[in-house]
Amino acid sequence: MVALALAACASLCRAQEMAQEPPRLAADRHTDAHIAETIRQVSADRIRQTVEKLVSFQNRSTISAQDEESIKAGKGIGAAREWIKAEFARYSKECGGCLEVKTDTFTEQAGERIPKPTEITNVYAVLRGSEPKQAERIVLVTGHYDSRNSDTFNGTDPAPGANDDGSGTAVSLECARVVSKAAGKLKFPATIIFLTVAGEEQGLNGSKHFAQMAKQQGWKIEAVLNNDIVGGDLGPGQDSSVVRVFSEGLPAVASDAEIKRIRMLGGENDSTSRELARYIADVGRSYDAGVKPLLIFRLDRFLRGGDHYAFNQQGFAAVRFTEFREDYNHQHQNVRKDDASGIEYGDLSKFVDFGYMAGVTRLNAASLASLASAPAPPTSVKMLTKNLENDTTLTWEPAAGASTYEVVWRSTNAADWEYVQTITSGARATLKVSKDNVIFGVRAVDAAGHRSLPVVPEPER
Ligand SMILES: [Zn+2]
Repeated sequence: MVALALAACASLCRAQEMAQEPPRLAADRHTDAHIAETIRQVSADRIRQTVEKLVSFQNRSTISAQDEESIKAGKGIGAAREWIKAEFARYSKECGGCLEVKTDTFTEQAGERIPKPTEITNVYAVLRGSEPKQAERIVLVTGHYDSRNSDTFNGTDPAPGANDDGSGTAVSLECARVVSKAAGKLKFPATIIFLTVAGEEQGLNGSKHFAQMAKQQGWKIEAVLNNDIVGGDLGPGQDSSVVRVFSEGLPAVASDAEIKRIRMLGGENDSTSRELARYIADVGRSYDAGVKPLLIFRLDRFLRGGDHYAFNQQGFAAVRFTEFREDYNHQHQNVRKDDASGIEYGDLSKFVDFGYMAGVTRLNAASLASLASAPAPPTSVKMLTKNLENDTTLTWEPAAGASTYEVVWRSTNAADWEYVQTITSGARATLKVSKDNVIFGVRAVDAAGHRSLPVVPEPER
C-alpha cells in the first residue's frame, strides 16, 4: 500500500511540479506598440548628416579653438558645441518646447593631457518626466563630441572623429529627436536626459564633472547608456548584427564591507550596471532594432576606458555600447595614406555604416523609452533567511506606478534571467525554489506591461 501510494505520489507530484513550472523568460517579449513605432522614426540619413556635420568642424579636440571667430568660421570644438545646442533647441521647437536645453561648463586645470586651464562644456537636453512623483528618476544616454588625431595635444590638424565619437554624439541627438517627438502621444513618467560631453580624450573630464555634479545634487540616475565607437566600421571582420554592451562586475564604489557581502552571496555578477545590461538584452528581444546587444561582462576593452566609468565611480549604473570589431587604423590617427601598404588612416565618415548606426540608435531609444515608461524599481527588497528552509520568501516596498511585480531568477551559473513568476497582490512572495541554488530579482510592472529594472534582494535575518 505504502509503495503504491508513493508511486502514485511520484507521478502526481512530478505532474504538479510540471504544471507549476514557471515561464521561461527567454521567450517572453515585452513590446509596447508605441515604443516600436517611435524607434521606427530613427533615420540613417539624419544620423549621416549629423556625423558629417560634426566632421566638418575639422578638429573637435577639447584643446581646439572655441573663440567667437572660430565658432563663426565653423572650426573647432566651440563651433561643434554651438551646433549641438542649436540642434537640441530645434528638436525642442518641434515638440512644443518639450526639451530643456542646458550646458554644464567648468574650467579644467592644466594636467597630463591639458596644457593650460581649459573651459569644457557638456551640452544636454532634458525631457522632464510626466509624473511628479517619478520625474526625479532619470535615465540618460551619452556620447562624447570631442575628437583627437595621433597627437593628443594637436588642436588644429584634422581630427574628424566620425566614429570616435561622432557616432555616440549622433546617437544622443537622434534619440532626442525621435523620443521628444513621441513625447506628445507617449507619456514618460521618468525623466530622460540626452547628453553630449567633452574632454573624454583628455581623461573623461566632461563625464567626471557631470557625474560628480549629479551625485552632489542627489540626482536619481537609474541608467546611463554610453555610446562610444558605435559606427560599425566597414572594415573586414565586422559583425553588423550586434553591438557590444560592456558592464562592470564588482561596483567601482563597493566598500570593503560590500565586497565581503558580495563574496558571501555569490553576487559578483549582479552589479546594478549588469542588471542594466540584462535589461538591454530584454529590450533587444522585445524590439526589432536591427542590431542585437552582445553582453560583455567586463568594464571595458583592454587598454581603453570610457565615460560610463565616470558614472560608475559615482555609484550609478552605466554601460558602454561599442561596435563588434574596432579598426585601430581609423581611431586616434592622423588622416593619411600609406602608399607602400595602401592603408588609409583616419576616423573618416566613409568608414562608418549608417544603417548599422540606425540599429544601435533604435536599441538605445527603445531602452530609454522602456526604462522611462516603467514604474520605479521596488525598494527594500529582502530575502528572508531566518530559518533553514528550501522555499524562498521575498518582501519589498511597493513601487510608484506599479500594478504588479515579477520575481525573476536564474541558475547561479546562467548569464541571464531564466524564469519569472508574476505576483499579482501584495509586496511579498514565497516560491518553491531554493535560494541556495539561484539568484533572484524583483521588478515592478505597470498596467501596460512596462518592466522596471530588477532589484536583487538582500538577505534579512
Ligand atoms: Zn571615444
